Amino acid sequence: MRTFRNITGNQTIIKLLKNAIFYNKVSHAYIISGDEGCGKTLIGETFAKTLLCEEGKTDACCNCISCKSFENGNNPDIFYVKPKKGKTKSIGVNDIREQVIENVSIKPYKYKYKVFIIENADDMTKEAQNAFLKTLEEPPEYGVFILLARNPEKFLPTVLSRCVNIKIRPLSNGEVINYIRTYTEIPDEKIELFAEYSRGSIGRALMMSQSSEFIEMRENIINTITNLYGKNDFYACDSVKYIEEYKNEKGLLDIMYMWYRDMLSAKVLKDDKYIIQKDKKDIIFKEANKYSAECIIDKAEACLEAKNQLLKNVNFRLCMEVLLMKLKESY
Ligand SMILES: [Zn+2]
Repeated sequence: MRTFRNITGNQTIIKLLKNAIFYNKVSHAYIISGDEGCGKTLIGETFAKTLLCEEGKTDACCNCISCKSFENGNNPDIFYVKPKKGKTKSIGVNDIREQVIENVSIKPYKYKYKVFIIENADDMTKEAQNAFLKTLEEPPEYGVFILLARNPEKFLPTVLSRCVNIKIRPLSNGEVINYIRTYTEIPDEKIELFAEYSRGSIGRALMMSQSSEFIEMRENIINTITNLYGKNDFYACDSVKYIEEYKNEKGLLDIMYMWYRDMLSAKVLKDDKYIIQKDKKDIIFKEANKYSAECIIDKAEACLEAKNQLLKNVNFRLCMEVLLMKLKESY
């Protein structure tokens, strides 16, 4: 159940929202932004739930009718604004008219506020934002809008300036590890691994831990690069075919980089407590014996270089051919 007390990290933001409730200084509009899986929906929804909680405290009680109806998805004063089914993913001017402007003019059914949660609010068209602007300029006293967004720069400056802007930062590795350890069944040997891949997002860590595709991708990538040892240039170039299907996966080069980083820890520090991929520690130690520390560092750097190249939209196949040729070298 959503409560502020159960949220990991982002405590400054949570304090700001709790203070707004406590001091009765709730603004009419909030933009909560951050990457996929950063917890913006969780924070936005918890704020909405707390605003309507009948206990009137700074965190949801989870026992009152309002809290319970929110968790059941039928609180009469909380509305989710979405693009109409069958249309494109952008929120159009008609969606805003029908779901926001017409609705907000009617007083709350039961509670102090009427809360509108707009998911992917940055997908609002310019026309939709302009239509919404009128409501933002003169909102009814009870109206609260929570706009969830990945790219706040897509909002018109006029919309931005009328909202409280809250940016959710990625959590630290330690915070993610603590969360995973406390709230999930992920086995110990994989906790650090998922925390590392999650890049500060609990949502992403959980998603990956439940995704068989991610686990399969990781296996395929590790197999491809470990098989390069002792092979010729032709084999290395041809091996691109084993990883080509992951060309749009952001994690591809992270997985490769982490592989060599762990190998370097094994080689230099010779202690498995420094290895993140504990589930593979035996093979990491074995692999580390095949190369010099210098060679492993060069490989890790080649992975970072390839990652930068791909961000610049360099041809995937070419970039990977160069990388795999480098990764097959041993000295
Ligand atoms: Zn409550």
